[in-house]
Amino acid sequence: MNQVVRALASEEKLLNFYNIVLFDEITERLEMPKKIDLLLIEGSTVTREQEEVVKKFREISDFVVAMGTCAVQGGVQALRIGDDIEKVKAYVYPNPEHIDVNKDVKPVDNVISVDMFIPGCPVNHEAIASLLKKFVSEGLPIAIPESVCSECKRKGIVCVMVAYGIPCLGPITISGCGAICPSFGRGCYGCFGLKDFDLDNSKLKMFAQQLKDLGMDNDRFEQTVKAYSWKTWSKYQNVYHR
Ligand code: SF4
Ligand code: SF4
Repeated sequence: MNQVVRALASEEKLLNFYNIVLFDEITERLEMPKKIDLLLIEGSTVTREQEEVVKKFREISDFVVAMGTCAVQGGVQALRIGDDIEKVKAYVYPNPEHIDVNKDVKPVDNVISVDMFIPGCPVNHEAIASLLKKFVSEGLPIAIPESVCSECKRKGIVCVMVAYGIPCLGPITISGCGAICPSFGRGCYGCFGLKDFDLDNSKLKMFAQQLKDLGMDNDRFEQTVKAYSWKTWSKYQNVYHR
């Protein structure tokens, strides 16, 4: 949520247009509001109670945004999907009997309908500021379907994969971060999530092979993609063969 604060602080007059009714970090907890114009949800749901809360908020909200990789894709916690939840709890917590979580992790749109997705880990505050500005003027940001590579090209960043042979997930990762990692000479690990709109299994497989040739083995590739793109990855997992 720090990125929301940054977004609000980035535009002098933005706060004049919004009355923040619930925001744990900056408001005292109030009673459930009767109506919300714009709801930003961060995080995936991991308990039944959270699912019920999210459903209640959907009922009173006009426009719902899933914000961040956990809300959009499931997040790192989705890596446990398919494992024995009792074993996972025992591995992570000293007193697992006190931990009450579902065995599944759900991105927000697996629980309620979502009107817009802003991916990122963390999200880019400029994307939130853009949403907040457009929303008050009754427009919405234009989502441009492009990869991190497009951001590299616009900024004139040397391609770390071509120039230095560093494995980079930028070609299959949705844009929005400003190509932060390549700008520091590192490969992208896909924290904004898979660029789903023109991806298919054969492309994914070919790309995995390319990364393998550069030293990123398939297990690491699979774990990395699952950690940041579980929802999209789960569409491919049954047909992806190493
Ligand atoms: S560094 Fe990565 S994101 Fe940038 S152009 Fe090369 S492959 Fe694409
Ligand atoms: S370059 Fe990739 S890993 Fe780095 S911030 Fe951007 S999307 Fe995330």
